[in-house]
Amino acid sequence: MKRGTHTGHCQACGRRQMVTPSGIAKHGYTVKGWGYFAGTCHGSGHKPLEIERTYTDEIIVKLGERARSMTTIANEYRGGKRIPLDVGTGKMLETGRDRYNRREWTEERIAWSTATVAQQAKEVERVVRAHEDDARRSRQHAEFLGKLADSVHGKALAPRAVKIAPRTFTEGERLKYYGEEYIVARIQGWSPRQQYVHLRRISDGREISPSVQRVRNHIS
Ligand SMILES: [Zn+2]
Repeated sequence: MKRGTHTGHCQACGRRQMVTPSGIAKHGYTVKGWGYFAGTCHGSGHKPLEIERTYTDEIIVKLGERARSMTTIANEYRGGKRIPLDVGTGKMLETGRDRYNRREWTEERIAWSTATVAQQAKEVERVVRAHEDDARRSRQHAEFLGKLADSVHGKALAPRAVKIAPRTFTEGERLKYYGEEYIVARIQGWSPRQQYVHLRRISDGREISPSVQRVRNHIS
């Protein structure tokens, strides 16, 4: 297989990526809240899911373990078996300025023992929710990968879409624009993207100057 002639699904993130001789091309994983996959996606360099699902199945197992562990921790916080180290007071403190001279803020945090009962309850609620969100995302991603693997594994890799060079025009050329016959009188503009095509209508000599993109879209 030559470099970049096919695309396949990444075993970790499930997105379609370019396939190289050394596996799925290096790509980032940018979904927020996924510490597990931050930075370069762990699926980079693995065989595409179409060919192999070993790594996907490993990840599904790990995500299941992570979801169970996050749920356990959430329940321990909820039941008072685990106590947050510190507690947000809700008061915002200015920490300085960023490089655009905008104020930066952070929530004031105090030791658990010095917080009020209401502040403690709010903090417990926050950490329980964070762990439950993580558990839910882990389960959802595991489910997504499992379904994807079942539908994609064993299928052929998709050939990479071939880019077709845009239609160009030459002076003196005859063409049909919006169903009427024209001659290309002149082409104006530096870059092919921003060119204007001066068209002369054959029936009455009337000239119009649509953009090259517009002509491409309406010629037959
Ligand atoms: Zn990936």
